[in-house]
Amino acid sequence: MISENLKQVKQRIIEAAKRAGRNPLDIRLLAVTKEQNDVIVAEGVRAGMNLLGENKIQEARDKIESLGRNGLEWHFIGHLQKNKVKFVFGLFDLIHSVDSLPLAEAIHKKGQKVGCCMPILLQVNISGEKSKLGIEPLELLKEIHKFAKLEGVKISGLMTIPPFDSNAENSRSYFTRLRELRDTCSNLNIPRINLDELSMGMSNDYEIAIEEGATLVRVGTGLFGSRSSIKKMPLVE
Ligand SMILES: *Cc1c(COP(=O)(O)O)cnc(C)c1O
Repeated sequence: MISENLKQVKQRIIEAAKRAGRNPLDIRLLAVTKEQNDVIVAEGVRAGMNLLGENKIQEARDKIESLGRNGLEWHFIGHLQKNKVKFVFGLFDLIHSVDSLPLAEAIHKKGQKVGCCMPILLQVNISGEKSKLGIEPLELLKEIHKFAKLEGVKISGLMTIPPFDSNAENSRSYFTRLRELRDTCSNLNIPRINLDELSMGMSNDYEIAIEEGATLVRVGTGLFGSRSSIKKMPLVE
């Protein structure tokens, strides 16, 4: 069943890319495994998922320990507290959710210490909702030079989470704005800043996000089913 979901999602990614005149190979599917148990995630990996996304450090550590890293990339997509920065090195290949300059600075400092440059995306609060995390668009334009100086991070793109709306079409304008903000920032030609990646789109709106330029779509329930009831291991009688 999970392999069937994966096949369908991949097909829909291809179709959305074609509608937009894009190469489907430019879009990567991040399978969001948060709150799913290891048995189900292992099934997904066997079915061919190779990019996995988690939003909690401890849960990610447990999953990485049990599933390993062989042929897999693990991405962090949750809010990262500064005191947890030390854990992300060695665990994650990309952090999607760097939502402030001080957080980027903390990752940079740790990166310098361990002699590593952590690939990150900057999370943008494109809707401006007070409840949402992320850098405000105007703030990003003003501060992008400061991000560029942080040698312990490799800025690879932008990420956003639009306000939830059951009508996916209503997410489109947020995705468009993230792409336009990316283009504006890229046109500043700041050394060390490469914003090729656009992480946007979840289960209900990833096709719209692809039409608007997403390179990474983050799909959880669309692949694994609902998270609301944590699925338990089958009981052995
Ligand atoms: C949970 C989560 C997702 C996946 O959401 P679905 O609606 O299950 O696809 C994507 N991105 C982030 C940041 C998440 O926290």
